[in-house]
Amino acid sequence: MSDRDTILSVENLSVHFRLGGGVFSRASIVRAVENVSFALQRGETLSIVGESGSGKSTLARAVLRLVAITKGSVILNGENLAQLSNNEVRKRRQNMQMVFQDPIASLSPRRTVEQIIAEPLMVHQPELSGEERSAKVRDTMDAIGLLPDMRNRYPHEFSGGQAQRIGIARALIVEPTLLVADEPVSALDVSIQAQVLNLLSDIKRQRSLSLLFISHDLSVVQHVSDRLLVLYLGHVMEVGAAKDIYANPQHPYTKALLSAVPTIDFSANKPKRTRLTGELPSPTVEHVGCPFASRCPMAQAICNEQKPQLNTVEGRDVACHFPG
Ligand code: ADP
Ligand code: MG
Repeated sequence: MSDRDTILSVENLSVHFRLGGGVFSRASIVRAVENVSFALQRGETLSIVGESGSGKSTLARAVLRLVAITKGSVILNGENLAQLSNNEVRKRRQNMQMVFQDPIASLSPRRTVEQIIAEPLMVHQPELSGEERSAKVRDTMDAIGLLPDMRNRYPHEFSGGQAQRIGIARALIVEPTLLVADEPVSALDVSIQAQVLNLLSDIKRQRSLSLLFISHDLSVVQHVSDRLLVLYLGHVMEVGAAKDIYANPQHPYTKALLSAVPTIDFSANKPKRTRLTGELPSPTVEHVGCPFASRCPMAQAICNEQKPQLNTVEGRDVACHFPG
């Protein structure tokens, strides 16, 4: 694939939050995202997975510049968002839209479905007439599987699955090139999850949309991901083709995550059940060695002394001194 098809390129991105710091205490730095790099092609779905607290939401928000970028670049359609003013970034939001975890909470309760879905048009295409706007809302609702007579109703009248469709319609009405979905089905009943996942897959295919899909649950993203990025304490542990990683994980952390999912079958390479024990270390610690060393069944002395760099192993990139 040529560079022309690279929609998003994240390079050495770090996001740190400063906590506390006063007369009697020193400030500490939460290292939510540490030196993360990846690229996303047109029409591709990259899923970002990891336990709660691993920095997935912060990474997603930094890509859209909804949190401040501490270091590195986020290049969307050839432009580094890290260097744009807030005002410039606001204009770029037409190209990058987000779907949130809790569908009902993320929709304004006092607005009708039509007003909610039309909102990004008011911001990004103010030149449209009321009639043109309504026509776009109708078309988008139709494409997302929402019935026209829902237009004048309010979010609380809908189930979680329908509300998430409203959120998806709102994100898509401005025809973004990048859609970021942060745990979009985690709040939904299992029976509804597959419908919303299929909807996202279909839309992605029809519109050549690039999708950044965030989930703590590897079974949720198994069938929608082209590529997978495994995050731990803000660090990339393993990144590559989803089918390769699901079939034959190389990083001990990926193995532990996958073996916790009972429904995933590793075909030929079924690893021994690796249980994740111990707590996630504090994100305020700066790691000299591998951030996973304290919980890793394979850890040797070097793991605490030297941070493993990403290296190509079995066709994907793995940050581990003892992969495989
Ligand atoms: P995930 O989405 O994978 O659960 P998050 O990105 O929400 O992870 O959080 C990563 C780390 O950053 C956590 O330790 C969290 O407490 C911390 N964090 C997130 N947002 C902030 C913030 N605004 N201020 C301070 N710490 C934050
Ligand atoms: Mg999150």
